[in-house]
Amino acid sequence: MVAVSSFPARAVVDLAAIRANVRSLAAHAPTAQVMAVVKADGYGHGLLPTAAAAVAGGATWLGAAQVEEALALRRGGVVGPRVLTWLYAPGAPLRDAVEADVDVSVSARWALDELAAAARAAGRPARAHLKVDTGLSRNGLTPADLAAILPEVLRLRAEGAVEVVGLWSHFAFADEPEHPTVVRQGEVFAEALRTVEGAGVVLEVRHLANSAATLTTPSAHYDLVRPGVAVYGLSPVPQLGASEDFGLVPAMTLEAELANVKAVPGGSGVSYAHQYVTSRDTVLGLVPLGYADGIPRHASGTVERPGGPVRVGDRTVGVAGRVCMDQVVLDLGPGATEREGDRVELFGTGRDGGPTAQDWAESAGTISYEIVTRIGARVPRVHVDSEVVAP
Ligand SMILES: *Cc1c(COP(=O)(O)O)cnc(C)c1O
Repeated sequence: MVAVSSFPARAVVDLAAIRANVRSLAAHAPTAQVMAVVKADGYGHGLLPTAAAAVAGGATWLGAAQVEEALALRRGGVVGPRVLTWLYAPGAPLRDAVEADVDVSVSARWALDELAAAARAAGRPARAHLKVDTGLSRNGLTPADLAAILPEVLRLRAEGAVEVVGLWSHFAFADEPEHPTVVRQGEVFAEALRTVEGAGVVLEVRHLANSAATLTTPSAHYDLVRPGVAVYGLSPVPQLGASEDFGLVPAMTLEAELANVKAVPGGSGVSYAHQYVTSRDTVLGLVPLGYADGIPRHASGTVERPGGPVRVGDRTVGVAGRVCMDQVVLDLGPGATEREGDRVELFGTGRDGGPTAQDWAESAGTISYEIVTRIGARVPRVHVDSEVVAP
């Protein structure tokens, strides 16, 4: 690995894995196009490189939550795929979105009004996706609000201000495909489709499936699937299958160089509050990453319950004691031969039994989504392509 920064740690992102994951997801949903969701800086993997890799893997749409994220894609030269943005408050730069050819979700009457005003100001029609709340009770129009907004939708279409190209929704229990709400939300969505299409709206895309539904609920695929976490190779349903069970490869490897290695006697208290006390003479290794870098403090370890797993050489050890802001300590074991500068891996592909973001999620009592999206801004992202052979 060629160091591109003196920072003694990095998140290495394999763009070949992202391409392959999108191809896998497309194979799981053969009747649908793929919208790769690249919000939150590509789930922490880097917005533009991730978007380009997803498109190279076959994604024809990109999903961004925030308007600024969608605009950053266009400003970054991403012009081929359609882009959808869905989360904004009154006063958002919707005119910029319309001018940048970004599709905009509409979840309320005020949003429709602002989008129409943006389209008039831009002098071109806005492309809208009506979001219907089918039971998550988060964003979106209730079915009643959807019916109530339709006359205005039709009026704005006649005016040439707003073209409704999509109807969409989001599941509450996609990660539990047997949950009765999955069927129920599907029914509410189908009813909303009948309402909208019955009013004469011709939709380009109907979309409902996130990663979990893409992998487990084919009836939700419709014309377009919206996977996020699976694009990055993480299983959205770890209780049902690991990444490889779904043909996915984790794209991010978080690695660091040991910054200090030293022998200490048994009975040594380690890190703040001595939550970990060495049970024998041993060797400690210092990893220069902490909670400011996204290492969850909840993954701190005690002797009884080791913290988040770290690969050292060909073995895996747990975090010893509290995760600090900038660093964590590992108990490398008696007689360990590691030295400062040796590379350790906090998580990666999981190949050969190495630790994964899912392992860290379990250690911290959270989900893998949170592990990768919270890797801190000061950790360099290094994009590599395992299919490109170095000259
Ligand atoms: C984040 C998000 C997705 C992607 O979800 P994953 O579980 O990561 O696949 C899809 N749709 C919406 C509305 C989202 O907010």
